[in-house]
Amino acid sequence: RTSIGGIDRGRVADLLEIEAAAFRKARPKSQAKVGNGLPGFFGGVPMHWMNDWPTPFPILVDSARGATITDIDGIRLDDFCLGDTGSMFGHSPPPVARAIRRQAGRGLTYMLPSEDALAIGPLLQQHFGLPFWQIATTATDANRFALRVARAVTGREKILVFNGCYHGSVDETMVRLVDGKPVNRPGLAGEFRDLTRTAKVIEFNDVAALEAALKDKDVACVIAEPVLTNSCMVLADHDFHDALRRLTREAGTLLLIDETHTISTGPGGYTRKYGLDPDFFVLGKPIAGGVPASVWGMSDDVASRYAAYNREKEPGYSGMGTTLSANPLQFAAMRATLEEVMTEENYARMDHLARRLDAGLTGVIDRYRLPWHVARVGARVEFICAPGPLRNGAEAEMAHAPELEAAIHVALVNRGVLIAPFHNMMLISPATTGAQVNRLITAFGAVAAKLAA
Ligand code: PMP
Repeated sequence: RTSIGGIDRGRVADLLEIEAAAFRKARPKSQAKVGNGLPGFFGGVPMHWMNDWPTPFPILVDSARGATITDIDGIRLDDFCLGDTGSMFGHSPPPVARAIRRQAGRGLTYMLPSEDALAIGPLLQQHFGLPFWQIATTATDANRFALRVARAVTGREKILVFNGCYHGSVDETMVRLVDGKPVNRPGLAGEFRDLTRTAKVIEFNDVAALEAALKDKDVACVIAEPVLTNSCMVLADHDFHDALRRLTREAGTLLLIDETHTISTGPGGYTRKYGLDPDFFVLGKPIAGGVPASVWGMSDDVASRYAAYNREKEPGYSGMGTTLSANPLQFAAMRATLEEVMTEENYARMDHLARRLDAGLTGVIDRYRLPWHVARVGARVEFICAPGPLRNGAEAEMAHAPELEAAIHVALVNRGVLIAPFHNMMLISPATTGAQVNRLITAFGAVAAKLAA
């Protein structure tokens, strides 16, 4: 194919070359320090995802505040990536920064509760509806632990995921449909097991496939995002969640809703806004304002079945928990986030600006007649370089335009805007300003003009 996302490939390559050169030229200090990688780290980075940014080398950050990030060359960027959701409420939200300062001299980890934990249990119940909670450190772990409980209480081995999903580095979710056939997700390092033995995978929004996959009553749990956010952005058909809940109940299968990204919808997530009724609720990333923490909640029914299971089983190691989880720094930051940051007022602001961003980007796409579209879940907006809406993971896979997206990302950075790598995601935080949104729309327009010219 000579074009990608409706744009001539030669033009895309030219744009990336020009923009990469401009990126380097603007950053002499960063180039000297990280142009050849960070010393002492495998692959030149402390975590290999940092090599996945399309910029010639990673942006070396000096500081970040609100929705602005400043690099060591003194370049300020409007940050719409926000740590890919970890900083969705802005960098160092003031109530969280104060809570961290208060806790800093009182001990950082004890394997014992503090008084903040007394406040958190009821806050989690109020925000997310479920009655029983546990704290972990990453969304990956929260999902792993909840799936373990699901298997324990149902006595079933299998789980079900949707094609194109991402729930963290949870081994058993790493399956895909390739030409309609379940396979291990391509690229997994050191994986010898056939993960499709214990995980079923079907397309999102496919109720008939769901019914068929659950009918043998061998699936312990369906793990799902309310919207597929890690495969471009695929919204649920209007009756999909009703069908998902009804069919899982009929099959005795539990339902885990992973709100780690869709918490962009509101202070109770997509679950509260749209009245989902999951058996498990998982949230990581921004729940403690950027301090690593996650939560997983259980229904009354699951909790009583798990308690009964524990009474009957031989005592031993449950396979859950990590030493640093539920530490007092997490409690302090999480309490501040739940009480003072995840407010209706903040979400109303975020939603308002996200609508403006959605309309502005759509306006640019229409002006240049690009075969692209925009999708939005509350404060989370994504432009997709293919026509839409997309209905499932297979369509999302086809919609990806990696070289084009790379060129756009670097061009946006050179115009003062940072968006999430891997896809085209933009988040609005409570600290994001209307002026920042306007600058993003203008920058996107300037890049679209170059591509469409
Ligand atoms: N769930 C979802 C929906 C995610 O998008 C992610 C990460 N992108 C995770 C879980 C895992 O989060 P973490 O990497 O913090 O464990």
